[in-house]
Amino acid sequence: MHTDFDVVIVGGGPIGATVAALLARHGGIAPKRIALLAPELTSDASASSKPADAGAVDLRVAAISRASETLLRNAGAWEHMPQARLCAFERMRIWHESAPADGPGTLVFSAAELAEPNLGYIVENRALAAAALASFREQGGRLIASSLRALATDAQVARLGTGHGDFSARLVVGADGARSQVRALLALPVREHDYRQNAIVANIATARPHQHTAWQRFLATGPLAFLPLFDGSCSIVWSADKEFAEQLMALAPPEFAQRLQAASDGVLGAMELRGERLAVPLRRATTVTLIGKRVALMGDAAHVIHPLAGQGVNLGFMDAAALCGVLSAGIAEGEDPGAARLLTRYEQQRLTHDTLMSWTMSGFSEVFARGPGPAGWIAARLLGLANANALMRRSFARRALGLAGEVPALARRVRAPAQDSSLTKEAAC
Ligand SMILES: Cc1cc2nc3c(=O)[nH]c(=O)nc-3n(C[C@H](O)[C@H](O)[C@H](O)COP(=O)(O)OP(=O)(O)OC[C@H]3O[C@@H](n4cnc5c(N)ncnc54)[C@H](O)[C@@H]3O)c2cc1C
Repeated sequence: MHTDFDVVIVGGGPIGATVAALLARHGGIAPKRIALLAPELTSDASASSKPADAGAVDLRVAAISRASETLLRNAGAWEHMPQARLCAFERMRIWHESAPADGPGTLVFSAAELAEPNLGYIVENRALAAAALASFREQGGRLIASSLRALATDAQVARLGTGHGDFSARLVVGADGARSQVRALLALPVREHDYRQNAIVANIATARPHQHTAWQRFLATGPLAFLPLFDGSCSIVWSADKEFAEQLMALAPPEFAQRLQAASDGVLGAMELRGERLAVPLRRATTVTLIGKRVALMGDAAHVIHPLAGQGVNLGFMDAAALCGVLSAGIAEGEDPGAARLLTRYEQQRLTHDTLMSWTMSGFSEVFARGPGPAGWIAARLLGLANANALMRRSFARRALGLAGEVPALARRVRAPAQDSSLTKEAAC
């Protein structure tokens, strides 16, 4: 049956844009048969995909693992990233409020210990999506500046209704975020849990240097993270019980900065808020299935997880890598990209992994959100014990980087660490 496109990707965030670029390069599909649909694209595609290489730091940033970096390189997106705005981080320090930041109870991951140049990069979300869109456009993919309004799928075809007209496709990829329309229009079931926390996101200047370190302190009210940025400042993600978070948001900037400094145990000295704060309600959402007839879900459309370990976007990138791998192998054997057999293979690779990660983050959030009493003492001891066991520590770190465990082929590193090292030094802040 003739269709307008082979694949239509709904969503132009980091995941939608990356899967589009990846499919155009490695999916075995002609790029002009791939379309990406998102409302924020402008009709002037060159403007919409211009890398974000100037202006204030984006409030939304992500910690990108080695596996995600490899995937972005394979998608042709890495070369479009504004290199001067990437910040390599070399350490992570994780401690509990009932223990001192520099004591034996602090869990420390270090790149040097893994013989890696860094543990990843802190990257602006806007720049991520723009870089992947630039690669997709460069390869001849089609951008449609509109929203999905209607979707009907059957065994033969998927039909999409958009503000820009109707389209047909063999496969629809739902990468349209936490409030996915693709998922809603097909009534694909989702399990949700409200954490009753808000994450306060802001950029701050600190009196002491961030030392290319990602810091995380577990407080009874929720975890507080400092992510190092290219300009020497930090991005914070302060997850706190709703009522407390609302009080914090109501404070004037200087008072907020003082509370932040106290909550961080003063590890980065005096702090100053730079620009606005944003409060994001936190919830866990996992879909019961990643697929429907001629539909595959990925990224936040498939799973929303607690941001405490900074794994959300990385998980979505691995979905993208898995789908691309399955499609290219299937298409090489003459399969239809929307064939149920291929989609099932994709789901088999990702559903258990994604769900497990989501529950693990919930578990961490529960275990470590303890005050200074006995439960807090145990939580702090757990971090200390993990730190004391070098084998366990390295194994955690290698998994978090995507250097171990089940990693889709397109995200597996082939480059020798020594080569990465020189690249990283140039790219690092
Ligand atoms: C406070 C906080 C901190 C975080 N920190 C990290 C971190 O350090 N590391 C990490 O890995 N992850 C982090 N995450 C998670 C990460 O931000 C998300 O996992 C990631 O942004 C998801 O990307 P996405 O492309 O799936 O969705 P989104 O970025 O939400 O993009 C969705 C896209 O779909 C489009 N869209 C929506 N509806 C429609 C429609 N009807 N039609 C067409 N298009 C549509 C939107 O316009 C957009 O382009 C954090 C999350 C939070 C809340």
